[in-house]
Amino acid sequence: MLQVQSGVSLKPFNTFGVAVTAQYFAEAHNDDDVREALAYAAEHQLPLTVIGGGSNLLLTGDVQGLVLRMATRGIRILREDCIQAIVEAEAGEPWHPFVLDTLAQGIKGLENLSLIPGTVGAAPMQNIGAYGVELKDVFHSLTALDRQTGELRDFTLEECAFGYRDSVFKHEIGRWLILRVRFALSRVERLHLEYGPVRQRLEAQGIKEPTARDVSRAICSIRSEKLPDPAVLGNAGSFFKNPLVAASLLQKIKRKHPGVVSYPQPDGQVKLAAGWLIEQAGWKGFREGDAGVHSLQSLVLVNYGDATGEQLLNLARRVQADIAERFAVDLEMEPNLY
Ligand code: FAD
Ligand code: NAP
Repeated sequence: MLQVQSGVSLKPFNTFGVAVTAQYFAEAHNDDDVREALAYAAEHQLPLTVIGGGSNLLLTGDVQGLVLRMATRGIRILREDCIQAIVEAEAGEPWHPFVLDTLAQGIKGLENLSLIPGTVGAAPMQNIGAYGVELKDVFHSLTALDRQTGELRDFTLEECAFGYRDSVFKHEIGRWLILRVRFALSRVERLHLEYGPVRQRLEAQGIKEPTARDVSRAICSIRSEKLPDPAVLGNAGSFFKNPLVAASLLQKIKRKHPGVVSYPQPDGQVKLAAGWLIEQAGWKGFREGDAGVHSLQSLVLVNYGDATGEQLLNLARRVQADIAERFAVDLEMEPNLY
């Protein structure tokens, strides 16, 4: 049965560590809890906010209504043969332990997505990606609850409309509650080592024929060196998406900044490293009060302790305005704002 509490601090439930309060708070441990939460919110005419690990959101004030934290658990292999495995996981499963669980069973494909915080259910929201692999590359299908009608719907890969840190769910926030996700994984190694630091790290370790678990370990060590641990320093990972711009804009920027970091895309656009732009603009290591730009990775905004969501948002807006003025590039925020 759903336990609804009132006046609950959300500080432990968002990786920025922003101290705000939920008017009502509950955890869903199964589908019945989810349906009960929906009914509770409808009956009391409360807005419902669904969260997982709170690692991709910025809470700009107290949250009115009911905050539902997905805490459902379960991982199962639905089908497998000697080549592939279809694995299903409940939305509340913590992402990184799920990755490790599949690798321990000899199931490959999620290794490049190691050590990403958060839950399985939130992964489709922005088509999580790292080190050359995105969720869409290993996605099979998912089941979501339509909060408007209460009906269940299965989504195929195409129906999720995954894009760069984007999906149909990001465009219809508040409509779909993702209950479980299925992954098309592999029993054979198909490694993606094209991201420079991964290959370099494996070579430095003397690993000539890496396994998926080697790749996972290498990525964990690279990430731990570079990214702030939210348990130590509040953050939500990259605060801005890497912008996709026209090749002509890149040429313009290059005239003034020959060192601009860019990656050509198949559609002719160019991906700019937003961290590079922010660093060039002098924001790396910037701090005002307890809100700051991380000193090692300028894409990451950090909370040194008591920054409010508003203060972090103001800092983000200042960075955006500065980058627009200097480079004529619009930076889009990655976390969802509440
Ligand atoms: P939350 O922050 O709880 O929620 C995010 C959004 O999804 C909210 O709008 C919420 O309402 C919605 N949501 C959550 N669960 C559900 C559900 N079951 N159904 C419907 N909607 C839901 N991201 C990357 O892509 N790649 C990275 O490499 C990466 N590295 C990170 C490193 C650090 C240190 C941190 C702090 C973050 C990083 N992130 C990265 C961002 C983040 O971890 C991911 O986006 C993650 O998938 C968010 O999961 P979550 O459970 O914490 O989502
Ligand atoms: P990095 O290696 O310093 O690279 C900087 C940026 O350049 C990355 O954001 C990446 O874009 C891009 N890039 C690097 N090599 C590339 C290549 N060979 N081809 C195409 N693009 C390339 O990045 P980092 O900050 O340490 O992060 C490493 C990986 O983890 C990246 O994939 C990043 O997205 C992911 N990550 C994401 C978050 C988040 O919150 N979203 C947080 C931490 C790390 P892409 O971002 O498009 O890959």
